[in-house]
Amino acid sequence: MDGRPADLVVRDTPIIVGDPAGAPARFLAARDGRVLAVGHHDRTRAFAGPDTVEVANPAGAVLPGFVDPHLHFATLVRLGQPTVRPTADGLARRLRRERRKTPPGAWVFLPGYDGDLDGLTRSALDRLVPDRPAAVRHATGHAAVLNSLALRALGWTARYPDGRIVGRLDDIARAAPPGPGPSEAAVRKAARTLLRRGVTAFSDATATNGPADWARLADWHARGLVPQRIGMLFAPDRVDVTWLDRLSAGRRFGLKVVLEPAGLDEAARRALTDAAALARAARRPLAVHVPDLETLVFALDVLGTLPLRPYVRLEHVGVCPPSLAPDVARVADAVVTQPGFLYWRGDGYRRRVEPALWPWLYPSATLLGAGIRLAVSSDAPVAPADPLRSLSALVRRVTRSGAALGPPTPVPAATLLALATREAAVVAGLEAGRLVPGAPADLVEVEPNPLALPPPEWDQIRIRRVFLAGRPVETD
Ligand SMILES: [Zn+2]
Repeated sequence: MDGRPADLVVRDTPIIVGDPAGAPARFLAARDGRVLAVGHHDRTRAFAGPDTVEVANPAGAVLPGFVDPHLHFATLVRLGQPTVRPTADGLARRLRRERRKTPPGAWVFLPGYDGDLDGLTRSALDRLVPDRPAAVRHATGHAAVLNSLALRALGWTARYPDGRIVGRLDDIARAAPPGPGPSEAAVRKAARTLLRRGVTAFSDATATNGPADWARLADWHARGLVPQRIGMLFAPDRVDVTWLDRLSAGRRFGLKVVLEPAGLDEAARRALTDAAALARAARRPLAVHVPDLETLVFALDVLGTLPLRPYVRLEHVGVCPPSLAPDVARVADAVVTQPGFLYWRGDGYRRRVEPALWPWLYPSATLLGAGIRLAVSSDAPVAPADPLRSLSALVRRVTRSGAALGPPTPVPAATLLALATREAAVVAGLEAGRLVPGAPADLVEVEPNPLALPPPEWDQIRIRRVFLAGRPVETD
């Protein structure tokens, strides 16, 4: 303490510091972007000056800013949140409406479609939009359908005769109208969408990321458009050890491999093995996209037989029977999961998945019980980034329409909160998730205090203010 006053003082407010053993503190001071002091006694007089911002909210609480270890920021900039109704009828109506609004020659483009694309083909899309290029992309980014004019515009008529692209993420990302990059306003808006929900740090897990994608995100960050702390996962075929070595050390940068249920063959085995070797050589984590049971079993089989493994993150683990959890614990260093899907996408699961398997969907409590390090992410814009709702969904297991997906799975409040703060930061290699002296002063003021509310009701908690590096940030 050199006598300069703090930038921020939190007093008379329960402060959840993110220390597993620690009781909530009542006082915190921050200066020059970092936490200066945390404690149980009010020391405002020792730290505050005329320009110090004060938080005093006895009915609320202050938490570490939320960390989202798996989202797709550039896609969020482009698409915003998914809004299309998930019925074929809704899709047809929406396409016709878009067509009326689209000038001749321009594309009818529906990204972020959240329903079933199984029945949609090139000829069906031709009937709905006969006179303009048209493309529908699923919200997961893992499937797209194009009409004849769109295929012709991209030179893909022979490559995708029925207009359907499944699992080829590169081509799915390119199946879009030509246009300039996103505007500054769109980038700022996407960053604020996250800040409004308390997300002060995130990792971009887009499977096609390469050096140019990092350069662009880092530039947005440097210009203050994206004030959050950021990390990134990269496609193994877009980077090499030399390039990765130039980035900061640790888990903030890693590799990402996508396994598709339809493509679990020798080539997939080789790609996963090669990516694991590259990750080990570069001392980087390897994130493996395992959305369902087939991909999970395949990944455990391939990675489990490697003599030496890198740090392994399994992304999603959307289906896992309890009997498989010990194998996950043996092979994976962490699981990055999306319990928010139980809420946002759960009604679809109830239609497509047989009831006996519902408790196996996004089974966070099972994974925690097996001793697996777990981090909660949104996968935005596949689902909205809303950490408190995700945590509530994790324990509640109730869909958007109010239906259950198996029994509730209680998790102690401090453990639960850590999944979207401290644990997420550890897995993503981001300096965040704890409010201890020296740590970045990234924090959120919420109301009411989560420790005074049953976790199933955490979706009711309101974010009052967000601070990055000890400074309040605008979220409107
Ligand atoms: Zn994702």
